[in-house]
Amino acid sequence: MSRKPWVGGNWKCNGTKASVDALIKTLNESDVPDKTKCDVIVAPSHIFLTHVLSTINPRFVVSAQDCNQFGNGAYTGSHSPQMLKDCGITTVIIGHSERRDVFRETDEEIGQKIALALKEGFDVVPCIGEHLAERQAGKTNDVLFPQMKAIAANVKPEEWSRVVIAYEPVWAIGTGVVATPQQAQDTQKDLREWIAKNVSEEVAKSVRIVYGGSVNGANSSELSSQPDVDGFLVGGASLKPEFATIVKNIA
Ligand code: PGA
Repeated sequence: MSRKPWVGGNWKCNGTKASVDALIKTLNESDVPDKTKCDVIVAPSHIFLTHVLSTINPRFVVSAQDCNQFGNGAYTGSHSPQMLKDCGITTVIIGHSERRDVFRETDEEIGQKIALALKEGFDVVPCIGEHLAERQAGKTNDVLFPQMKAIAANVKPEEWSRVVIAYEPVWAIGTGVVATPQQAQDTQKDLREWIAKNVSEEVAKSVRIVYGGSVNGANSSELSSQPDVDGFLVGGASLKPEFATIVKNIA
């Protein structure tokens, strides 16, 4: 694989001060390969971000799980990219399926968040994915391509090096039903072809597309052997020591 592997741990809305400290200790003591071999990010809840940043080994990049699309101001309950940046955060996940489905975020809002985060200098991890009924109806690309279009419309040519696309089929997230390596490969190849056609050949070759949805220490090796799978966005298993195994399997 010519692209550097990327593995993200999305801790979602989980953790206590004690469990976060225990997880940091586990990660700090793990023997994951260094930054030259694999980018590894962890994304705790906003409330733990600065604590994680000040205690985790800098080998791990600390990411936010979301940001707002407005900046600072009268936006109760939200976090601006500017504020995150001021706290030392450099990466943000945007448009996770839980943001789309539970918080009803639209492609338009997700696009605005991406544009602002990139403008503020962030590395961004936009997420896309189809629901089970859409896959079963053979409509996967009909869902993914418009999601990609809304993302690409908000990325300037020179900003693509700061984008990692997370393909996360919604039916695989938190269900224990992982996409087969072939399903992940076929879909991510289609996404890369879409990028080649609609952005550029160069970006299609260089942009990292990672898979997410029930990835664990046991299934990650085979998934990562697929040519268009450049890494993983991991939920449940990122809260366990197993996360280090996933990194080691791909790095
Ligand atoms: P999961 O979540 O690994 O628990 O399926 C993945 C994600 O939501 O990023």
